[in-house]
Amino acid sequence: MLDEGTANKIAAGEVVERPASVVKELVENSIDAGASSVSVEIKNGGITFIRVSDNGSGIEEDDAEIAFERHATSKIRSSGDLEAIATLGFRGEALASIASVSSVELITRVRKNPHGICVKIQGGSVMEIKETGCAVGTVFTVRDLFYNTPARFKFLKKDSTEAGYISDMVSRIALARPHISMRLISNGATVLHTPGNNDLLSAIFSIYGKDIARQTLKIDYEDERVRIEGYAGKPEIARSTRNYQSIFINGRYIKSKLVSSAIDEAYKTFLMKNKFPFAAINIKINPLLVDVNVHPAKMEIRFSEEKEIFRSIFHAVSDALAAKSLVKEAHVGY
Ligand code: ADP
Ligand code: MG
Repeated sequence: MLDEGTANKIAAGEVVERPASVVKELVENSIDAGASSVSVEIKNGGITFIRVSDNGSGIEEDDAEIAFERHATSKIRSSGDLEAIATLGFRGEALASIASVSSVELITRVRKNPHGICVKIQGGSVMEIKETGCAVGTVFTVRDLFYNTPARFKFLKKDSTEAGYISDMVSRIALARPHISMRLISNGATVLHTPGNNDLLSAIFSIYGKDIARQTLKIDYEDERVRIEGYAGKPEIARSTRNYQSIFINGRYIKSKLVSSAIDEAYKTFLMKNKFPFAAINIKINPLLVDVNVHPAKMEIRFSEEKEIFRSIFHAVSDALAAKSLVKEAHVGY
């Protein structure tokens, strides 16, 4: 039998690959907690310092320590719930994993309490718990990631590369949730800040700038199976990497060969080989038709009606390209 600490470290290998995975898990928790504003602050590419602050529900005093236990989740109560997961988290693994390979400080307060609670955990062991004055919401600070797992530490890349992964991750989350104001600060400098006004094009503008935002086509498609919304880049702004494509299923960022190839197919006559269009696409689909449970990092998914989904996405993007429903400059000219 593995002891709890070792089991958590092994699980951490699955969930926490690098600083960007920590950011992802913490920000997703903020979203699940109903935050309308989330701020991510990093130093040295997140290797020495990651702080995620939100104005969400906060964690009840009695639950603050328990949240770090493995399989402690407030989001799923029965295996039946697994069939239709509405929250981003559901395994109750992230906090236990992160805390086992770093120093974590949690400061949190629920609205009904006049004060909050601060929990300090190092390498999975609770060091301190005390009452503290703080705003409603939650602040997680993660320091010295992988300090006790040298083999993992060794695999980290340069600070600037890790910072880039974090920036990609936060950008994607911001695109998936235009109603949430997302901020990323790296070594004291603001990298991105979205308004949280529930307008995807405003978020695209904040993240990629005016030139990209102006060169997009609106996608707005619905059939009996899916609703597909978002923006597709005009062929002129295609790049030689897929990095400018963000695909979300029910608000969850995913990677899917099926979706990518449906997009490629729609652009086929417009683009040269190895050029990839800008795209930010949200696919809303009955959760029963997708399996998000394929991998702990939860990026890969499986559709149950692949052919039909492919066709829907192809049509959604083709329609946008055909309509050339050019986004009016006035719309992004703030
Ligand atoms: P999961 O998200 O899969 O439930 P986590 O390990 O990520 O598991 O988090 C454990 C629990 O801690 C969550 O279920 C939630 O109750 C609580 N929690 C974590 N982060 C926050 C937050 N930012 N705001 C409110 N509650 C949180
Ligand atoms: Mg979580």
